[in-house]
Amino acid sequence: MNRPSQDGFFFCPCCGLPTLETDWFDTCMVCLWEDDGQSVADADQVNLGPNAPCSLTAARANYVERGHMYAADDRKAPPRSPLRDQLLALAAAHPFDTGAYRIWLSDWQSVGR
Ligand SMILES: [Zn+2]
Repeated sequence: MNRPSQDGFFFCPCCGLPTLETDWFDTCMVCLWEDDGQSVADADQVNLGPNAPCSLTAARANYVERGHMYAADDRKAPPRSPLRDQLLALAAAHPFDTGAYRIWLSDWQSVGR
């Protein structure tokens, strides 16, 4: 795919932030949407796959309400943690700071899993 990017990150179709390191099947660490190719054209469809049972439209609404793509009762919803709170603070800043996100990713990769 050939998609717009910023500072080496592709834009997440769910939260809209430049958070995807590749443009195919990467997971956005902010909203946790896995980029499976779903876009505006088929946003209301629920695809079988990593984002089920959420359509892109539902995931976007969940993100606005809760800071991640999952419904309130979904067990895959991420727990609160200091690292996650840091990430949500980055996500709320305008403009989004990809340099700070890159540092957060590296911290997450070393301790957050
Ligand atoms: Zn996202």
